[in-house]
Amino acid sequence: MKTVVSLRWAALALAFAAGSSFAQQYPTRNVTMMVPYAAGGPTDTVARVVAQAMGKPLGQTVVVENRPSAGGIIAPELVKNAKPDGYTILIHHIGMATTPALYRKLRYNPLTDFEYIGLINDVPMTVIANEKVPAKNFQELVSYLRANKDKVSYANAGIGAASHLCGMLLMSSLQLELLTVPYKGTAPAMNDLLGGQVTFMCDQTTNTTSQIKSGKVKVYGVTSKQRVPSLPDVPTLQEQGLKDFEVGIWHALYAPKGTPKPALDKLVAALQEAVKDQAVQKRFADLGATTMPPERATPAALQAHLKAEIVKWGPLIKKAGVYAD
Ligand code: ASP
Repeated sequence: MKTVVSLRWAALALAFAAGSSFAQQYPTRNVTMMVPYAAGGPTDTVARVVAQAMGKPLGQTVVVENRPSAGGIIAPELVKNAKPDGYTILIHHIGMATTPALYRKLRYNPLTDFEYIGLINDVPMTVIANEKVPAKNFQELVSYLRANKDKVSYANAGIGAASHLCGMLLMSSLQLELLTVPYKGTAPAMNDLLGGQVTFMCDQTTNTTSQIKSGKVKVYGVTSKQRVPSLPDVPTLQEQGLKDFEVGIWHALYAPKGTPKPALDKLVAALQEAVKDQAVQKRFADLGATTMPPERATPAALQAHLKAEIVKWGPLIKKAGVYAD
């Protein structure tokens, strides 16, 4: 009996020692941040800014790995199934809250399959069109779309993407049904928009700001309640008659369920440093985004926000009757 008890103590002591040396040493190699959409797009842009800033406090490089898919549903599944050792994390946006209502069979549960790290930023969206579209303002754009219903197309990043959500809300407010063209991210969608293959899209300012400023695309409104400081001349959709229309895209970091607490604590601390970094705040502000204050870059704030967003969007999506398998 005595031997069994002391063996148990020895095993516990060993596990504790292994745990505390893990805590002291983590991370000893690169951390991979998986991005659910194509390189060069808005989620990728946010990932690269935050990954670089987190690398400093972690003392290791945070490598951005794109696992693009329409709707962004592959990367969360990969991270869910990754080894929970702190070396694989996920960046995702509002899609974590909208996909449960959009997909009949989703191979991950945002509320139970992940550990939370924290919120990163909030990004408004913009309605943009290719430069051949003659409309000069949002009302003219709507008339143009109605008059050319069978010719125009809306680009998005698949069911579950922010661009899908915005387009769905836009079309249901306008009571217009248009052809949608899905991509594995809005970077390739933007290429086709610039090339004139698709007519219009709604996408985060983190992807559209430079194209708007250089006049390569036409802009018809922002989806935030207030105008965006970096695009002061662009009116909101609310100002232009779409009462109550508001979509804000938030980004956050997750780890696989079971990631050890010492690793999570270090990841949270690194995210805290990143959101406090003035270079990060400036880069995001230049792209129209608002960096979360440190008190929201926490697991508890992310968990509460995710739950609230699932509750908010679920009924609206169900009402729209959009589903994917
Ligand atoms: N902005 C995209 C979306 O519509 C995704 C991306 O390419 O980052 O969700």
